Amino acid sequence: MAVLNYTESSRKVEEAIYDRVIPAGEGWMHELEPGQVLRIVDLEGNQAADTLFYHAEDPEDHYSAVATMLGQQNIYLSTGTVLRSESNKGLLKIVADTCGRHDTLGGACSAQSNTVRYAHDTLPMHNCRDTFMLQLSMYDEKYTKRDLAPNINFFMNVPVTPDGGLTFADGVSAPGRYVEMQSIVRTVALISNCPQLNNPCNAYNPTPVRVLIWDK
Ligand SMILES: [Zn+2]
Repeated sequence: MAVLNYTESSRKVEEAIYDRVIPAGEGWMHELEPGQVLRIVDLEGNQAADTLFYHAEDPEDHYSAVATMLGQQNIYLSTGTVLRSESNKGLLKIVADTCGRHDTLGGACSAQSNTVRYAHDTLPMHNCRDTFMLQLSMYDEKYTKRDLAPNINFFMNVPVTPDGGLTFADGVSAPGRYVEMQSIVRTVALISNCPQLNNPCNAYNPTPVRVLIWDK
């Protein structure tokens, strides 16, 4: 099991050019210029922020979990991780992380996965896939559901067992923990602040996250 990797940031909240709270279960989509730094704060702890990134000039070249894991030879994301695209371009780099580990294997929850994992009566429940699609449809007509891809689950703890299984475990995050990444190219960030109520990724209680942006 990988050792947790903590790196604090020296950026000051009062110097951020953007500061917003994403309520529990809601979504957010925003463009980052090269050099800008995005911080996501787990305000109350044990919240999962399902996240995708797109190359703003070529949205088909979206975040790739496979290219990212291969590039660093590690399945967990933390400080130093370059978040890579399908064409293996670096989109952003994680520059600070006080949670210590983030998942990119577990995927986003959907109505379909809820009914398979839990029970058929979870079908109408809010889920990250629907939040992603709603945000994409409101952002720009050039984005469609074809632009959904395997995502990052910031603050989510999905340990891989020695025999290769995935487990959704209690979080390693806590109130106020954050992850910070610097954009390498012009990048569009898409977050679903996970509304899941059926597994411990949110401690069964979705809570808000905060997003801050610095101009370098
Ligand atoms: Zn979710």
